[in-house]
Amino acid sequence: MDPYTIFADIVAGRAAASKVYEDADVLAFMDIRPVTSGHVLVIPKSPVRSLSELDPELGGKLFRVGQQVAAALRASEVNCDGVNFFLADGVTAGQEVFHVHLHVIPRTPGDGFGLRARPRTPPRADLDYLAASIRGALRRAVPE
Ligand code: AMP
Repeated sequence: MDPYTIFADIVAGRAAASKVYEDADVLAFMDIRPVTSGHVLVIPKSPVRSLSELDPELGGKLFRVGQQVAAALRASEVNCDGVNFFLADGVTAGQEVFHVHLHVIPRTPGDGFGLRARPRTPPRADLDYLAASIRGALRRAVPE
């Protein structure tokens, strides 16, 4: 699969970006089509396509920078009463740019952003069954 994405050009300085934070591993910049005003993307500088390819240490850094950006949004001139983190992993999840990115979305009352899911409470037995399945997968993925 073609590893190129526009985010590689942004990291390399070949494409324009309104940067808010940069260090050796992580870059944060304004989303070009913000879902709310002040919407920021936090990305690893290395071209990592998916969560499964993302080094957990680097994932930790993304989250840390996301936290700092969230605090900065609240302290800045951006209208921000709350913050949502969002990360789309895979086409079905809505990923359009195949370079991992954490959306940091400032929220204000009535801004129109939200999830369309209609959650229902399943029987406990169903929750327990799936929990056991996920625990097994976790043990196989992350042996003690
Ligand atoms: P996703 O659907 O989670 O893959 O989100 C991709 C995000 O990247 C969208 O919110 C786009 O608006 C944003 N985006 C795409 N191209 C650029 C760009 N050149 N600069 C800033 N944000 C971008």
